[in-house]
Amino acid sequence: MNCATDGAVRHEDDILYPTTIPFILIHLAAFAALWTGVSAWALGLCALLYGLRMFGVTGGYHRYFSHRAYSTGRIFQFCLAFLAQSSGQKSVLWWAAKHRHHHLYSDMPEDVHSPRHKGFLYSHVGWIFARRHDVADLSGVPDLTRFPELRWLHRFEQVPLIVLGLACFLLGGWQALVVGFVWSTVLVYHATFCINSLAHVSGTQRYVTGDDSRNNLILAILTMGEGWHNNHHAFQRSARQGFRRREIDITFYILKLLSLFGIVRGLQGVPARFVRNEHRLAPKIIHRTAELLAARFHPRPIAEALQSHLGKDELSTLHDTLEGAPAPSAAVWRLFHPHIPCRDTLRAEARALFARTPSIDEIVDRAHHLVIAGIRKHLPGPAGAAA
Ligand SMILES: [Zn+2]
Ligand SMILES: [Zn+2]
Repeated sequence: MNCATDGAVRHEDDILYPTTIPFILIHLAAFAALWTGVSAWALGLCALLYGLRMFGVTGGYHRYFSHRAYSTGRIFQFCLAFLAQSSGQKSVLWWAAKHRHHHLYSDMPEDVHSPRHKGFLYSHVGWIFARRHDVADLSGVPDLTRFPELRWLHRFEQVPLIVLGLACFLLGGWQALVVGFVWSTVLVYHATFCINSLAHVSGTQRYVTGDDSRNNLILAILTMGEGWHNNHHAFQRSARQGFRRREIDITFYILKLLSLFGIVRGLQGVPARFVRNEHRLAPKIIHRTAELLAARFHPRPIAEALQSHLGKDELSTLHDTLEGAPAPSAAVWRLFHPHIPCRDTLRAEARALFARTPSIDEIVDRAHHLVIAGIRKHLPGPAGAAA
């Protein structure tokens, strides 16, 4: 987005202060435990509300409303939406719209919360308060907006949170409100936010996904299965995010249990070739990954090194050769080596950078093409930067 030329657009990343106030207040309210005290039953309530609402986030907001990883009846759908929204993370329509956008542009400049582009803190929490994220483009969730009850929950998005808070107070007084409700709300906030921030920074990558998503066991435990985020980015529609037996995914176990009672059905699985990492990548992922690989080879210094090392005739030959890219012969590469990276160099870099994939050759070919095009741009001549 061009922020430099458009005054109206420049303010879109401004913090929307009225939205931040309740968020800050609920964090401050957690300290009221100094006065209410902390008892074992209040901690038990906190754990119960954490578990219930984390399921609302993972089984509701994420796997059901954002990815339609399973189906259910309309009553349970409403219950899921109510439970999810009792965590105070806006409406299921808003959440799903933002999340689908995240998958469309994961870790690209357009991503709503990418640590790569906006920094860790912004991806963790800052983006929620940016003016442009206060509303969501609901054209991306037509499958959800057709339900009037979900539109009602969208309009009165804080109702479930207030109802739960009130119920805690009426049932258990101030301690239930502060320790049971407020503490668990804050914990669910940050556990969820860690998926947007930490799960794109820390952990391992089993799959090439064209983004920075990672698998992280600790996060998977804290978030009831969401920490298998690289798995999820590789195959988003699966109701199960721990693809392998030892990958603990409590949300999936609960969904499986609910399916035994017929409450949910049609749990989407993962094709065996995905689990074995034998699938070929989609063109979009190949393209994104090739861009990441090509970005490791800076074209301007390579072009400058070539100009300083080669004579005029050699430069002219090189220019003609690059015009014939993407497939000059190996002998020609040897002529200009080591300044121009060849496919083997790119392949070695790709192996060091990315997870194993059967699509490695396509990534390397595409990246090679991008590198050559970049060098050409910076060489003098008909296709040079000055041209
Ligand atoms: Zn992600
Ligand atoms: Zn997702």
